[in-house]
Amino acid sequence: MLLNPILTGTALFVLGACIGSFLNVIIWRSAYLGQPVTFGGKTAGLSLSWPPSHCPHCNCAIRWYQNIPVLAWVWLRGRCAKCQAKIPVRYPLVELATGLAFAALYVAYFHTGWGHQPVGLAGAGIWHMVAAVFGNGAGNQQFRSMFNGGITLGLDMFLVAVLFAASGIDADWYEIPTALTNILIAAALLTSLFGLQPGLPALNPSGMGGRMAVGGTAGLLVSLGLLWRGILPRSFSQVVFVHATDTAAADSHIPQRSIAPMPGPQKSWPSVVGTVLILLAVAASWLWTSGRAAALLTLMAALVIFLLGVLPRSSEAPDESAQVLEESAAPNVRVEILKELLFLMPPVVLALVAASIPFSLPHPAWLQRLLGVLLGLLFGGGLIWLTRISGSLAFNRVAMGLGDVHLMAAIGAVVGARLVLPIFFIAPVLGLLWAIVLKFMGKRNVLPYGPWLSMAAILALLVGWPIEHWYLLKISGSSTAPVTIPMHWPGTP
Ligand SMILES: [Zn+2]
Repeated sequence: MLLNPILTGTALFVLGACIGSFLNVIIWRSAYLGQPVTFGGKTAGLSLSWPPSHCPHCNCAIRWYQNIPVLAWVWLRGRCAKCQAKIPVRYPLVELATGLAFAALYVAYFHTGWGHQPVGLAGAGIWHMVAAVFGNGAGNQQFRSMFNGGITLGLDMFLVAVLFAASGIDADWYEIPTALTNILIAAALLTSLFGLQPGLPALNPSGMGGRMAVGGTAGLLVSLGLLWRGILPRSFSQVVFVHATDTAAADSHIPQRSIAPMPGPQKSWPSVVGTVLILLAVAASWLWTSGRAAALLTLMAALVIFLLGVLPRSSEAPDESAQVLEESAAPNVRVEILKELLFLMPPVVLALVAASIPFSLPHPAWLQRLLGVLLGLLFGGGLIWLTRISGSLAFNRVAMGLGDVHLMAAIGAVVGARLVLPIFFIAPVLGLLWAIVLKFMGKRNVLPYGPWLSMAAILALLVGWPIEHWYLLKISGSSTAPVTIPMHWPGTP
């Protein structure tokens, strides 16, 4: 039936696997966009849709049934049907991971009542959302709550997809395209403006958080204006940053990369064996644990499978880690990074000023949600930026990229300010674990940070609020007082 978690979960798994297939295209092609490519007798710039998928070795077109996510790779046993060239195991793993993550979030939100944003009714499905729109939904609170839950799930699935793409590109090239972070910010702003983003803590514009969001946003606009007019200096404008995605200097210096095959694990079998073991553990968890634990384990499994596909690299893959190290030790790091502190002054100062002066604004629901998005954006981006600045001042080499700043700003915009701290503290733990693995394997240790921020953000969709609860209880020094989560549900009292 339509309420069936297995049916809807499977449908979302299939949807996720298909989106994962497109994420593979984004991850691999983003580094080569616009480069001239000859295919089928035609030479044109490479885009996300051209040339159509084909085997890079024998150039044969891939038929639709050879493009079925996950299954085609298993059926072909990881080799091109025509020339038997190896198809990187990254393809099926990213598809599988995206599908698992979508299904896990759906089950957690709708069938266990768990997640960073509670969904009104347990036991109902995404189809209820459709019923709410096309049926008698208008005045019905249950339906409206369901509808909001569906929008929340949709936005979070979008978050997962964009973070997977950003992580894959960061792992390969040490850069995060601003197009990806901007589209996330746009999605968060749009859904909040149209009143469709329920769970994000809404902010009363007259409260302190709301006033900080107003002041901080005003300051950010001032800084952007001053930067645009050339009054504020750009940092590192003299240094050729091959990887930088957003310094003006980079635009004219981006080298033409020679197109290389998708970097992926050298050997497929360790990733395949690991994935099969993980899937067996997930299946067991559905049989023997509660729905919540199983949903969390499924989400964690999705993240590990994604990393198994994206992080290990074959020895032929382009490796830019040496270049990143060289760039991070650019001359005058401390002077350059202070220019970024100048940029941050107006938002920080205006946010503090607005927080200390009580003023009141009208507070329609859309403004409250918009301020919730903006405070998350400012807090997420600001926290990583201050980390970058203080780290660079301390060690005299660039710590963290501006791409990470943009990424955390986008994450904050989607999940809200209160989940920023849990993410900020989970990410380095994950990164450290991977650094230890690399140390044991004797591999390169230049770590991109984007994947860890991304994995932490996705985990925080389920574990963020419990962690926040826990440390709020610690801070308040009480062991019993329940900390209420100020959820704002349009249509609910
Ligand atoms: Zn082939």
